[in-house]
Amino acid sequence: MEKGKVYLIGAGPGDAGLLTRRAYDVLQTADVVLYDSLVGDAILSLVPAGCRKIAVGKRAGNHLLPQEETNVLLLREALDGNCVVRLKGGDPFLFGRGGEELELLAENAVAFEVIPGVTSAIAVPAYNGIPVTHRDWASSVHIITAHRRAGKTDPINYKALVEMGGTFVFLMGVRALPEICAGLMEAGMPAETPAAVLERGTTASQRRVVATVQTLPEECEKEQIGMPAIIVVGEVCRLSEEFAWAEERPLAGEKILLMRPRQLIREFAGRLREKGAEVLEVPLIETRLIEPNPQLDAAFASLCEYQWLVFTSPSGVRLFFEALAARRQDLRSLMRCRIAVIGEGSRRELEKHGFIADFMPETYTGEALGRELCAYLKGQRKQDGNCLPEQQTSSGDDPAGEENLRILIPRAKEGNPELVSHLKEFAVEDLPLYETVPLEPGILDLKELVQKGEITTAVFTSASMVRSFVQVLGETDLRGVRAACIGKQTAAAAEAAGMQIFVAEQAKIESLEKLIQEMHG
Ligand code: SAH
Repeated sequence: MEKGKVYLIGAGPGDAGLLTRRAYDVLQTADVVLYDSLVGDAILSLVPAGCRKIAVGKRAGNHLLPQEETNVLLLREALDGNCVVRLKGGDPFLFGRGGEELELLAENAVAFEVIPGVTSAIAVPAYNGIPVTHRDWASSVHIITAHRRAGKTDPINYKALVEMGGTFVFLMGVRALPEICAGLMEAGMPAETPAAVLERGTTASQRRVVATVQTLPEECEKEQIGMPAIIVVGEVCRLSEEFAWAEERPLAGEKILLMRPRQLIREFAGRLREKGAEVLEVPLIETRLIEPNPQLDAAFASLCEYQWLVFTSPSGVRLFFEALAARRQDLRSLMRCRIAVIGEGSRRELEKHGFIADFMPETYTGEALGRELCAYLKGQRKQDGNCLPEQQTSSGDDPAGEENLRILIPRAKEGNPELVSHLKEFAVEDLPLYETVPLEPGILDLKELVQKGEITTAVFTSASMVRSFVQVLGETDLRGVRAACIGKQTAAAAEAAGMQIFVAEQAKIESLEKLIQEMHG
């Protein structure tokens, strides 16, 4: 996207799926993002790691940066030649002060673009089963701010509203709820008119109170409704009972933390969102090829001399082929290799590169892989069909060849030692291919989210991920964290850190998904 330009973007009401495609694309190329406190966590977690992030904006009464300073900051960042994103909750022009922020830019002839967002005024009712208009109930909708500008008194004209009829949506009005309801009734609205307050709509913690204009303030007091919330007044509110759908989704109410690199979890995150969970993508670790790597160079130079290649993770597979391509070596150098994988994920990754695995153990651990592969190579094949069928006569049938089988295991720098020890009767070469490095957490304050008990489930796919998490959270008490772990080793690390542990039946993503569903109950 263009440099020296400001993109005024509406982020929608919270659900990551309601961010527009245009907004997402521009966000990926931003040099700096100035964001509001109203922008949802799931959306903030999509802001790319590389760009600068500045918290501005407001939460009624708690100004982080005065509006004038935000305006000047936008101008300065654009004049410095940056691609500047101003990210706002909902739609930027609906009570978002978007207009004010553009004035200074226009005066200084700085280029800008406005990317409209899904407004909470319509989407939050929708997520609560309330259509803001309806042929039988309301032929107009009025969106009203209950927040007055300091020092100005331009009271809401309740009389005019009641005369017009239709649905009324009040934003920034929770504190003024009793006055609003009283004002409407004084202006002649029947006390039994349906009315609702909808809190944190479209997120995992959305709540609603549906009552009448007369009883709503008291009901909200009882339920301790907090912010942000909108008030909806009108006959359409009675439809929420019949039409409410968001809570019916299988993972509704779950706020799930994923910490793997985004490209590896996009599909998984998508499936969890499909089931109604709010998903935070906060990569805490990254896998990197070890470069330079003379041992790898040597192995690649004589790839045709290995009879077996063994992969212990999807990342290992991906990085292996990446390293191969980087050395301008093509797939024919693997023509004579047979390939073993640790489990489903690696098998799938391998298939993306056009190879079908020759062997996969019954249990997806390094120990089982070593043990079962050894048995397989020695000709003691398993009967239960979990091993993939033979494609050619195994060298294992050749007593002279077996001992000298050359096996290459390109994997993480500190891989599980049990794998190699089970295979030591062969000519095994343990090849450190990549390492796992911790990443700086992005924009979200994980510590705060954990302390407030906002995250319902944290998903761990390796012990190194647990270590990064613990490091980021410092001294925080982790007893409240429900950890969904991919395997025993990971669970042991999470338990040692004090978390409540839940372990997937098998070390694969599908099992994790099932586990999360079971944890949800
Ligand atoms: N531009 C925004 C509104 C900004 S005013 C939009 O188009 O949605 C801020 C008010 O929006 C809040 O006080 C609250 O009334 C409402 N709001 C924003 N997000 C909300 C959400 N997820 N749930 C309920 N109300 C929300």
